[in-house]
Amino acid sequence: MDKKSIVAGNWKMNKTHKEASEFIKNLAPLIQSARASAYIAPSFTALHDSITAAKDTNIIIGAQNMHDETDGAFTGEISGGMLKTLGIEFVILGHSERRHVFQEDNSFINRKVIRALKDGLQPILCIGETQKEREEKKTEVVLEEQFFKGIQNISKKDASNIILAYEPVWAIGTGKTATSEIAEHTHSFIRKLIIKHFDKEISKNMHILYGGSVKPQNVEELMQQENIDGVLVGGASLEYKSFAEIVNKA
Ligand code: PEP
Repeated sequence: MDKKSIVAGNWKMNKTHKEASEFIKNLAPLIQSARASAYIAPSFTALHDSITAAKDTNIIIGAQNMHDETDGAFTGEISGGMLKTLGIEFVILGHSERRHVFQEDNSFINRKVIRALKDGLQPILCIGETQKEREEKKTEVVLEEQFFKGIQNISKKDASNIILAYEPVWAIGTGKTATSEIAEHTHSFIRKLIIKHFDKEISKNMHILYGGSVKPQNVEELMQQENIDGVLVGGASLEYKSFAEIVNKA
């Protein structure tokens, strides 16, 4: 059976708790009969109200980040346990803004992925090359490194709970989408990496989302590609009508 596709919205540092809950109430009736699963990652301050607003809907609420430790002297950080207790189901890890703006490295991201799995959260592990790396033909080397280091010390059993997201940095928030050919070619390369590290079965079942300027206008073509199992959406997830359109088309 085909996997159910996933459309995940990453709101980044946008929306107050009131705006978040309003958005979810407006969105829910529009995607009631969607085939795809709708995931939304609001800011920490909006998580509680978002969970309340999403109750009895098919919307799944997640966080945009977490720390790898359970507790302690980490001013400003949030643990996986805190998120889980709140009712959070997934967490985005290794987003390019965390890697490049906040200098998170592969080893830190790997520790977060391990902790998220221990805490019962589903990690969405993001990987992706910069424009410079693509121009220098280093895309595959970079993706292989980010993937292998990101999933180190993770068992096959736990791997089945991970979602991967391929997000070329040059396509995030730039309006430049990878063509469906480029995206499919890269997703098929990532699918092979999963086989190399885990096995065929896990590779077949693992969702690989594409992210980078996804809009209602380009989602269908992307979703037609064999190895694209869903999308991770930034900008176009901030407006409920455009997000609903993406969810319904995916
Ligand atoms: C993202 O931040 O994960 C993303 C894909 O952003 P955008 O859709 O705005 O390119």
